[in-house]
Amino acid sequence: MDNQNTFSPVVTKGLKSLERVEIPQNAQIVVVGAGAFGGWASLFLQRAGYRVTLIDQWGAGNSHSSSGGETRLIRCIYGLNKFYTSLANRSYDLWQENEKIFGQQYLFTTGCLWLIDQNSDDLIEKALPVISGQGLEYVRYEPNEAYELYPLLNVDNLSHVILEKKTGYLLARESCEAVKNQFIVEGGNYIQGAVSIEKIKGELNEISLDGGRSVSGDCFVFACGPWLKEMFGDVLESKLKITRQEVFYFGLPTNNSGTFESFPSWIYHSPPDFYYGIPSGVRRGFKIAFDRRGEEIDSPSTLNRTATKNEVERARQYIGKRFNGLHGMPLIESRVCQYSDTSDGNFIFDRHPAGSNVWLLGGGSGHGFKHGPALGELLTNVFTGKVPVVEMLKI
Ligand SMILES: Cc1cc2nc3c(=O)[nH]c(=O)nc-3n(C[C@H](O)[C@H](O)[C@H](O)COP(=O)(O)OP(=O)(O)OC[C@H]3O[C@@H](n4cnc5c(N)ncnc54)[C@H](O)[C@@H]3O)c2cc1C
Repeated sequence: MDNQNTFSPVVTKGLKSLERVEIPQNAQIVVVGAGAFGGWASLFLQRAGYRVTLIDQWGAGNSHSSSGGETRLIRCIYGLNKFYTSLANRSYDLWQENEKIFGQQYLFTTGCLWLIDQNSDDLIEKALPVISGQGLEYVRYEPNEAYELYPLLNVDNLSHVILEKKTGYLLARESCEAVKNQFIVEGGNYIQGAVSIEKIKGELNEISLDGGRSVSGDCFVFACGPWLKEMFGDVLESKLKITRQEVFYFGLPTNNSGTFESFPSWIYHSPPDFYYGIPSGVRRGFKIAFDRRGEEIDSPSTLNRTATKNEVERARQYIGKRFNGLHGMPLIESRVCQYSDTSDGNFIFDRHPAGSNVWLLGGGSGHGFKHGPALGELLTNVFTGKVPVVEMLKI
């Protein structure tokens, strides 16, 4: 079940809540965390006319953070969950609009091949009317048709293949830096520093930074990714699980690397096994990750980021079997990162129960990166009073 949450968060509650807020236009908003969530939220808040200060302890898209990888998938298939399909769809358009402003491409439309195992459940099948209902296109291939089109693919044990079209991959850490830079260009104030807070009781007026500094504000958004749990353990202890995840990049054959680089992103769907990858992606090699939750960690600040032998071997075996030409290719890079997993797979965007002007934004749960722009826009629409707080994202 845990694994399924990445692909289709549980629809536990309704979408609309009765809670509406309206933060005055001249308010000073402080956002802590310049990852995919905090960075985009800051940019949209700044555009809405607020005075925004964004703070990060190691910088936007740093290697400790969950947004600090090279690439992240963007896809709109989310099982029966219409909310995340439309959020991803909206994000896709916002990525495209904003990369024109940034003057550099961060979204690469490769399509995504969903490789459906013969023993798989019908989650992806059920998602197809949902994406069609939002105008999103897909193509269904029998295994032999998929092989003809993509001879790199070994179709053994697959019942069929779905090509989701409005999908691809994003440059992760580089786009975080671009969002932060654009935020500064548009008048935002960025500070590098580590924030510490006392237990929240009522209204917060000021936060402390390392070096004896402090920053005051009218409203505070904590978008601290996997650090949220250690900062707000009293509220999030049972809601968030921070897990260790490994990502691998294998070498491409010298004789046909171009064919691999033009291959779509892919997801192998065979619950509880979910492998996914990005074959091209900034010349890093063939990316593969296994989407099962790793061990729970104490702190992302002290996490051992050396890949484990067993996981490397598991990934090597999978790509060697599934992709023709990759058998025996060497591991060329690895990364260890962390998921901020919520119990139902839904993100967290809610007011702190003890802090009237303190908001928590996080719980990316292994699928949050792509949603950064639409989530930032949604947060801004909630703050300006255009839409109510989303029930499904409440703590
Ligand atoms: C291996 C892996 C693969 C993934 N694959 C995908 C994918 O393919 N597609 C997808 O959409 N999503 C994917 N995700 C999920 C996605 O990357 C995360 O959901 C997203 O990056 C979370 O962003 P965030 O801003 O919440 O957290 P983060 O990126 O961790 O940002 C939090 C920031 O807060 C800062 N911070 C924390 N505490 C403090 C403090 N006290 N003071 C100052 N600053 C502080 C940190 O330095 C950090 O920069 C993946 C995640 C992992 C780990």
